Amino acid sequence: MVLRIDGHAFHRLSEEHNFEKPNDEGALQLMDHAARDVMNEFKDIVLAFGESDEYSFLFRRSTALYNRREAKILTTLTSLFTSSYVFNWSKYFPETPLKYCPSFDGRIVLYPSATVVRDYFSWRQADTHINNLYNTVFWALVLKGGQTTTEAHATLRGTVSSQKHEMLFSRFGVNYNDLPARFRKGSIVVREEITTSVQGVDGVVAASGAEGVVPPTTPQSTLKTKVRTRTTVELYHCDIIGDEFWDSRPNLLA
Ligand code: ATP
Ligand code: ATP
Ligand code: MG
Ligand code: MG
Ligand code: MG
Ligand code: MG
Repeated sequence: MVLRIDGHAFHRLSEEHNFEKPNDEGALQLMDHAARDVMNEFKDIVLAFGESDEYSFLFRRSTALYNRREAKILTTLTSLFTSSYVFNWSKYFPETPLKYCPSFDGRIVLYPSATVVRDYFSWRQADTHINNLYNTVFWALVLKGGQTTTEAHATLRGTVSSQKHEMLFSRFGVNYNDLPARFRKGSIVVREEITTSVQGVDGVVAASGAEGVVPPTTPQSTLKTKVRTRTTVELYHCDIIGDEFWDSRPNLLA
């Protein structure tokens, strides 16, 4: 089960609130913040992917949240995301008060297999890349190249990816791959299980490497190794199209 939310008319919202083009970092961080709030509230979400004004949330396969009632899940989570976005706005835009109430739409799609879930997330990350490359050249042509937006669209019409890279590099000295990963890869928020092995004696347990808790003179035979697992929610801007991300987190699709 994947829920995707998308900002309503954010083209206008971004203009009215002077988002930096092509990527306003604060606006993206605010989206990440709202996604984290949703994940902290709903533990059955194992993964989220964000770009621009959208976020996709993957639920663990066997979730029984609200008895899987679509309307309840969709309305509650979309509403929570929206209220977090508004609640936290001023942290990311201290100089720019909200001029009106933003809203988000949402949809839930059930995907039939793990492969299709991966295809879905690959599709969203490929979309991030394609849009970012286009928008980066487009705004370079406008802001640095002196073209009007109409001229910039015309310049880019029919160009393929390699030509956009070349245009960025030769005309503006920008190496696309040097742009921040957040812009190129989007935001990946993942619930991680972090396992630490801990050593202790007489009921005293310390994380391995902590100083002073286990006296250095303690005989090795009285030390017990325990495994502790804690769950955190981590933010990355990494590749999720290749196998590595998924292979190292088999729980996501289990
Ligand atoms: P709809 O209501 O159909 O979703 P929309 O105007 O929100 O319409 P989208 O296709 O969702 O259109 O695109 C979102 C737009 O919001 C982007 O094209 C961009 O103009 C703007 N935008 C969103 N996030 C940012 C950001 N972080 N920095 C700059 N612009 C942004
Ligand atoms: P659920 O999430 O299932 O809707 P809930 O706690 O919101 O649970 P409701 O049946 O919707 O339960 O009832 C809303 C409750 O909120 C009321 O029972 C009351 O306790 C409180 N409440 C709502 N509005 C007011 C108000 N204006 N003044 C005082 N209490 C209110
Ligand atoms: Mg939309
Ligand atoms: Mg939108
Ligand atoms: Mg969008
Ligand atoms: Mg109620």
